[in-house]
Amino acid sequence: MFKNTLRVFDTKLERQSVMVNQICLDNAYMACAYDLANHLSRSQKRKVGTVIVSRTNHIIGDGVNGMPPGDSNQLETPDGQTKLEVFCAEHNAFGKLATSPYSSEGATLYTTYSPCRQCTKQIIACKIARVVYAEEDTGNEHGSLDLLRRSGIRVERFINRVVNDDQMTRQDEGRMIDFDEDRYR
Ligand SMILES: [Zn+2]
Repeated sequence: MFKNTLRVFDTKLERQSVMVNQICLDNAYMACAYDLANHLSRSQKRKVGTVIVSRTNHIIGDGVNGMPPGDSNQLETPDGQTKLEVFCAEHNAFGKLATSPYSSEGATLYTTYSPCRQCTKQIIACKIARVVYAEEDTGNEHGSLDLLRRSGIRVERFINRVVNDDQMTRQDEGRMIDFDEDRYR
């Protein structure tokens, strides 16, 4: 009985440690996606960055929204509409993924803006397991996030998560999980 209780405590601590680790990774990779967007995207309307991370924590694809190689750097028409030729950040990340030695199966895709319908299909085809997005395209009538969920992909909205030594709180799509290390001592 005592042994069993100890085992439960171990499991909780292990889970807590995994969660803290995952939050640190999420913060780092989303910061990376934002850095790419801010430094490399030439969009005047919305700069988007994407990073794909393998199950083994290797960055296997990254990209920003942009024009095809050799084209002008103008992503928008004079009246502010996004040109049809524009590649999504995810498209460009998938391009790099094609030359990566690591598998995309079980990978996580971080994106600063929720994916469009076409990229959603590609995410599913690449067997990506988890999508973390920062801002949602509320004008997306095609329900990309729902399609991802229906396909068994874990979808999470990224929110600033603070991790410190004493306590970590994670709010995930309205679900609040509190970790208090003292409870498990
Ligand atoms: Zn797209």
